[in-house]
Amino acid sequence: MRKYEEIWTTATGEREVEKKAKKYSLYENVIKQFNKAADLMELDPNIRKILSTTNNEIVVHFPVRMDDGRIEVFTGYRVQHNNVLGPYKGGLRFHPSVDIDEIRALATWMTWKTAITHIPFGGAKGGIQIDPSKFSRQELERITRRFTFALGNNIGPEYDIPAPDVNTNEQIMAWILDTYISTRPPHERQNSLHVVTGKPIETGGSYGRKKATGQGIVITIEQWAKERGISLNEATFTVQGYGNVGSWSARLLGEYGARLIAVEDVTGAILNQRGIDPEELATYVKNNGGIAGYPGAEAVDHRTFFSTRADIFIPAAMENQVNAETAPLLDVNVVAEGANGPTDPEGEKILEEKGIDIIPDILCNAGGVVVSYFEWLQNKRSEFWQLDEVDAKLRRIMVDAFKRIKEKAREYEVDSRTAAYIVALSRLEAVYKERGIFP
Ligand code: GLU
Repeated sequence: MRKYEEIWTTATGEREVEKKAKKYSLYENVIKQFNKAADLMELDPNIRKILSTTNNEIVVHFPVRMDDGRIEVFTGYRVQHNNVLGPYKGGLRFHPSVDIDEIRALATWMTWKTAITHIPFGGAKGGIQIDPSKFSRQELERITRRFTFALGNNIGPEYDIPAPDVNTNEQIMAWILDTYISTRPPHERQNSLHVVTGKPIETGGSYGRKKATGQGIVITIEQWAKERGISLNEATFTVQGYGNVGSWSARLLGEYGARLIAVEDVTGAILNQRGIDPEELATYVKNNGGIAGYPGAEAVDHRTFFSTRADIFIPAAMENQVNAETAPLLDVNVVAEGANGPTDPEGEKILEEKGIDIIPDILCNAGGVVVSYFEWLQNKRSEFWQLDEVDAKLRRIMVDAFKRIKEKAREYEVDSRTAAYIVALSRLEAVYKERGIFP
């Protein structure tokens, strides 16, 4: 166990120190998960070396003018883990916790996600170490545009394609697209819409992309419930994080008749055993910036939130939330990992001992990147698909991926996360073996 302090420069240029008990580096978590699966499946040692290393790590420092005329210097990252299956793909997050370790881990998870779902992309992730709530809209636009400019040729529609992640959205994607296109030679300007996905519909986005991660989560929960003989229509669930992923998961699971009883986000936690209306809460969060003060439920503390008895728990916020402190409190049948890396290794061990199922992040939240792939395809082919088409294609990919992982779990008699890794690594291993290593 290690404890250390993290320091970053904020919006206003102040040095802030956050003392947090970060027990594991996120990348160490990934490598632990990777090694467990690689040992079991006896992954080729040469391919093991390649996949446990990232291909490229880009760190940029760039100046931006603030509204009051001052200049601030920001730090941004893009880590490209692997592209043997296709162009690098993965989100960009704006968050104070962003550092090279976190982005490395998230980039690696993207490689596994795209391999599991059989979409032709590699894995990447990026971000800027900022708290976006401390900036004006104009400042955020200038930060985004200057970051895009700093990344230069390190992104591109056939090379590395960013998308939304924590605290980034359609608007940010539209600014990235505009900046990228504006800085290209004229002949490249008209066919570069697919340099980012998760765009607004009018700007080339896809129907269904916004809800896609939540929808994928709910499809995997539905498959899990079917297997366990649980009726979702009588189920209860709790959600951590009520941003895009958390709120869409809640709304879509609500459509099955499942009852949302507790929610936690950065502003606090709320509980109502009779049920919280997911739609109404989403509107409240939009207007108030968080769940605190929501009139349809009572405010509770962090421990009460984690101790609430429910069938399903969806962590849809940040990493390492299910850990040595919180996992012992959990009284649920399944943890459906909406966030990336929400369960740390200690938390995972406790869940296992308690017999709580896990739908692993690299399967559970892959719906976002799957519909990103549909958006990318539509842009490339100048097509525009209807929502029912997107929904049906997403369902098929998620159900197939769920089945592949179940089969591997049975074959190797392992937990679902390890099985998901085996699915991903087998595919990557097969491709490396067919293609060989240049030169
Ligand atoms: N940020 C999302 C993820 O972690 C989506 C990535 C994408 O659409 O490229 O999977």
